[in-house]
Amino acid sequence: MKYRINQRTGERVSEIGMGSAYLYKANRKEAVTALRTAYESGINYYDLAAGHGKAFPLWGEALGDVRKDVLYQIHFGADYSNGEYGWSLDLDTVKRSVDWMLGQLKTDYIDYGFIHCQDEASDWETYRKHGIYDYILSLKDAGTVRHIGLSSHTPAVIQQILDDVPVDMLMFSVNPAYDYGHGEFANGGVDERMAVYRRCEKDGIGISVMKPFSGGQMLDTSQSPFRQALTPYQCIRYALDKPGVLTVLAGAQSVAEVEHLLAYYDQTEEMLDYSVIGNFAPVEASGKCVYCNHCRPCPAGLDIGLINKYYDLALAGDGMAAEHYRKLDKNASGCISCGHCDRRCPFHVHQSERMKEINAYFQS
Ligand code: SF4
Ligand code: SF4
Repeated sequence: MKYRINQRTGERVSEIGMGSAYLYKANRKEAVTALRTAYESGINYYDLAAGHGKAFPLWGEALGDVRKDVLYQIHFGADYSNGEYGWSLDLDTVKRSVDWMLGQLKTDYIDYGFIHCQDEASDWETYRKHGIYDYILSLKDAGTVRHIGLSSHTPAVIQQILDDVPVDMLMFSVNPAYDYGHGEFANGGVDERMAVYRRCEKDGIGISVMKPFSGGQMLDTSQSPFRQALTPYQCIRYALDKPGVLTVLAGAQSVAEVEHLLAYYDQTEEMLDYSVIGNFAPVEASGKCVYCNHCRPCPAGLDIGLINKYYDLALAGDGMAAEHYRKLDKNASGCISCGHCDRRCPFHVHQSERMKEINAYFQS
């Protein structure tokens, strides 16, 4: 397992995390063993926006004794009083639900207390008016909540909330389909979505990725907007390539499914290459580097994806990224304009020209 650091909290987060949407469908023993296997394989980050209340005791049973070694995202607004997942903006319901979740999980604290599911600007107004955000803050003051999270599918709402209050972790729906305008939660345009990734990276806010496979759509040729299925591993790599992303929350209902996910680390670079989506990129995405590194090898030895990532972040005001660029052994000044990357790039980036632009920016 590889880990990334949440810059705001200093915590080490496993690149592969676990979601909880469907775990309740597995039988108890299989689900508990799957969670324990995930933990023993190094997965330390778990989202608890479960599809059904039946999932919570599974976590308590599987991980109650190692609670201090794992990180939980718990959602203020997810309600299980009828068993099934429900969404509530009623303060008393939220309080009851949080108490119930903690009891089932056999814990008395929350690593990331989430402002849950804010997809419309009016959700956030109501959330604050009803005192739910203040309730999270009161639990933070009391030490029950350690850090604040936000879950949303909507870039404009995310930007608004990040302007209003400090957030340590964003849970956002990231996959090639949504980024290119396909699917139920494809909210915001290419640039709006990229602005969220860059802001999070710049401000040190970690992103935990929900819906990395677009509900399975990406994995099925007949449903994929790219007319070709990607593997789960290509989708995981795609999400991990986005600025700000710390962990991809994938689901698993059995030990075999956990092991299948962990095989991500056995894939070759060719197997992880998702650049086929470049053939279907919308006009607004054409000519923009997605840091996929499909254009390698660069004969001058440049890490083209990383140089572009640092440049875009520096343009967005990320001083740390500019520092990282300056520390690279080989940067855009080493480009020999051979044109190899121009010919290879499926996203129609004129990279040799861009290297000149990047070099000029950092020289000035
Ligand atoms: S130039 Fe094209 S192929 Fe190379 S990293 Fe950027 S998007 Fe990928
Ligand atoms: S044009 Fe520059 S960045 Fe692209 S492959 Fe050639 S040397 Fe590398």
